[in-house]
Amino acid sequence: MTEELWTGGCLCGHVRYEARVRPTAPAYCHCRMCQHLSGAPAMTFADVPLEHFRYVSGEPAVYRSSAMAERRFCPRCGSPLEWRAAEAPDAVEITIASLDRAAELAPQAHIWTESRLPWFDTTDACPRHRREPGVSE
Ligand SMILES: [Zn+2]
Ligand SMILES: [Zn+2]
Repeated sequence: MTEELWTGGCLCGHVRYEARVRPTAPAYCHCRMCQHLSGAPAMTFADVPLEHFRYVSGEPAVYRSSAMAERRFCPRCGSPLEWRAAEAPDAVEITIASLDRAAELAPQAHIWTESRLPWFDTTDACPRHRREPGVSE
């Protein structure tokens, strides 16, 4: 992995983070939990190995959204910042839109399209997965 610096943070500026490598596997998530959490029709995430990720200012709040995952967000303004496996995470899935250079990391796939809202769609040709790749349907 080539060393790069990708910085990001929340709306109010309290929480800032940095990734030391280019985030990989950028994707839209259309699951119902992401819809409720964000109040938006979908969220976008990209992976960063935990060892190359750190918070550089502020302390995010943690919400355990399911048995398998935690989500971190700004305790002041509420911006969602990341998703990670609750037990022994080895990677962080950062929210692409919270990156300072979000425009440079276009999603390459869609997951959980079985709960995609019928009035929301995109014009890309990215692969669409009803659930997650590898999860049987
Ligand atoms: Zn904030
Ligand atoms: Zn989701």
